[in-house]
Amino acid sequence: MAEQRQRPDVARLVAVLNGPDQRRAIAAARRLGRAPGPPPVLVSACLLGAPTRYDGGAKRTAAVDAATRAASVVPLCPELLGGLGCPRAAVHFEGRGDGEAVLEGRGAVEDDAGRDRTAALVAGARRALALAQAAGCEQAILKERSPSCGCRQVHAASGVVSGRGVFAALAARAGIACRSEEDVAIAGLPPSPPASGSGDRG
Ligand code: SF4
Repeated sequence: MAEQRQRPDVARLVAVLNGPDQRRAIAAARRLGRAPGPPPVLVSACLLGAPTRYDGGAKRTAAVDAATRAASVVPLCPELLGGLGCPRAAVHFEGRGDGEAVLEGRGAVEDDAGRDRTAALVAGARRALALAQAAGCEQAILKERSPSCGCRQVHAASGVVSGRGVFAALAARAGIACRSEEDVAIAGLPPSPPASGSGDRG
């Protein structure tokens, strides 16, 4: 079940980590990584209720709240980090491409106004990964079907197709174990990640 209200314990963190001051954001991520306890969990900011979606809404999800209740979280929005702002025109993959195709230079992302947003999604994914690595994240819970965060499905021009979002693909390549909120609703969050990493559109 999704609701719009932002989780109060993460609101300030969302603003700092996804804000324009990159040095401040990295410093905040490092502080999270130095805190006692297991490594913090990277979470798509919208899943914690942050109003970061293309339409200015959120997708706070009870299963994500439950899975991260006892965890330190790193709430990130790759599309905000890529400079797309909020609200923004929704984006989708061209053809049947996905994030893997984009990272390999054979895919593209366009917004509903017809503007090429490939570079923005790649830039946002790289910034998000740098923050996740500064915090030492080993696991991520990402919004299914988002062109940035989708873990198994993404929005393409033809509709929903199998594939990973740009950020999910980059994070998995970096060894972060990525699961969607739908995976977490079924199986919860395991105490330790598997050996290798495997998000609606944001
Ligand atoms: S799904 Fe969209 S709004 Fe949510 S964190 Fe990812 S890019 Fe941002």
